[in-house]
Amino acid sequence: MARVQIPLETERRIRTEARERCGYCLSPQHLVMARLHVEHIIPRSKGGSDDELNLWLSCPICNGHKSDKTHGFDDETGATVPLFNPRTQRWFDHFRWAADGIGIVGLTAIGRATVAALHLNDDPDALGIRSYWVLAGWHPPKE
Ligand SMILES: [Zn+2]
Repeated sequence: MARVQIPLETERRIRTEARERCGYCLSPQHLVMARLHVEHIIPRSKGGSDDELNLWLSCPICNGHKSDKTHGFDDETGATVPLFNPRTQRWFDHFRWAADGIGIVGLTAIGRATVAALHLNDDPDALGIRSYWVLAGWHPPKE
């Protein structure tokens, strides 16, 4: 599907609201060596609109794993549930950082299903980068 051109003013508002970080792994723009994507929370291919309420920021790694997914499977409850919505839900209600500061622990069915669907804990590039951020004292974010 062709990439959508989001108006610059809209992108600026989204970047501010998202605090310039990925809605899924909280990677901040100033540490990611690529521009964070304005992503469709509900993908256009699944009927999601270009309305600002359906847009948020995502790092290229999370966005790539998310692709056109809207739901994920939670091993613990055996339920298929909607993925975490970074616009309407609070990250720390659904996830926490593992003790090593590198891993992301799902606290709810939505959190666990999102960790699995977006490979938040098993993408080798993301884990490698985060481990250096932890060593540098830049990670994990507290809020
Ligand atoms: Zn991310």
